[in-house]
This record gives sequence, C-alpha cells and structure tokens, in this order.
Amino acid sequence: MNRRLPTDTDDGMLLIISGPSGVGKTTITRGVERGIADSVFSVSATTRPKTASDVEGVDYHFVDDAEFCHMIENDAFLEWAEVFDRKYGTPRKWVREQLSRGRLVILEIDVEGAKQVKARMPEAFAVFVLPPTEQELLDRLHKRKREPEEQILKRFAEAKREIAEAQASGAYDAFIVNDDLDRATADALRLVTEQRAAGRA
Ligand code: 5GP
Repeated sequence: MNRRLPTDTDDGMLLIISGPSGVGKTTITRGVERGIADSVFSVSATTRPKTASDVEGVDYHFVDDAEFCHMIENDAFLEWAEVFDRKYGTPRKWVREQLSRGRLVILEIDVEGAKQVKARMPEAFAVFVLPPTEQELLDRLHKRKREPEEQILKRFAEAKREIAEAQASGAYDAFIVNDDLDRATADALRLVTEQRAAGRA
C-alpha cells in the first residue's frame, strides 16, 4: 500500500543507467547505490534464465513467459523491452511508491526502456555508460567468461548498435566513459548529486 509517512518528501528522483553488456554499468550502478543514502535499486522482472551469479529478488525477479505476459496485461510495468530475445520489465507500482517517499530510484535498463521511461517521465535523469573503445569492450566481454564465444560476438554486435541508438535517441542527459571504474562511478555520483540539488532548488 502506498501510504505516505510524515517524513516523506516529494523530491524523489528517477535515475536511468544504461550501457552495453560488459561496460561496467552494474558496478557503477551499485557504486551509486552505495554512495547515496536514500537510493534504491529497482529489481526488474525477466524471463532470462538465472545464472550462477544471480540472486533471485536482488538482481532480478525470474519469471516465466506466462507470468511476464500476465504482468503486461495487468499493466504492472513502467516499461518493458526485449533484450537478447528475453523480456525485461520495471515494476511500475514499486517505483512510484519509492519516488513518493522521496527516494532516488535507480533503473538499470536498456535504451528501448529508457526511451519509454523518458517519454512518460521526462524529469527522469538518464545516463549512458560508454566503453573507452570498441576493442576494449570486446576484451572485457571475453575476460568476464560469462558466455560462449558465439554469444560474446552477438553481445558485441548488439553493443555497437545500442551505443549508436543511445547517441541518436536524445533520451540521455549524460554520457560517461568508463576508462577507470572508480572515476566513472565518481562521475556518476557527482552528476546525480548535482541534478538532485538542482531539482530541489
Ligand atoms: P543482463 O541479462 O545482462 O542482466 O541484462 C541485459 C540487458 O537488459 C541490460 O542492458 C540491462 O540493462 C537490460 N535490462 C535489465 N532490466 C531491464 C528492464 O527492466 N527493462 C529494460 N528495458 N531493460 C532491462
């Protein structure tokens, strides 16, 4: 239930973080979450299979196709998109509740999803994380040893397409180059803090 508390404020902020696979956006996202006391990470629903490093309810809510379709029919998503042939969606009600409590709500979503959110909530602040170079991104995808070679090449091609789409979309307020994780995380934290202060002024 969305019951307001006496301490609730109206200065919640919606932060979108996107970037291609392997660019380090999850590390940056978690860094922003740790660095901002009242921030919360939005746990998406997905139909992709759970990997060994995933924790149910922390990284994603893992659901089957039927359940995801049911959620679409019930208008449960603020946005949803298909990425690598799997569906991913942001829980609408939870995000609204957190925003009404004045929290910084972090969505780690793809470009399609970011475009949908920005169309509905233009006040959302959207950041896209870029690799220093394409070659560096390919090397990182290899190094994390998460997928077989064929999948890596698919993700690499998709990454190049996604970067071009992000740049052309007009949905992003800032682009951060991740040539150093600590610096990129600090950049993200600074941008978010400045943006939030501007929103409060
Ligand atoms: P992964 O399966 O590697 O965790 O995520 C694949 C892609 O799906 C990433 O680009 C990630 O940002 C995106 N993604 C994760 N959750 C959502 C979501 O709720 N909505 C959308 N549109 N994309 C998502």
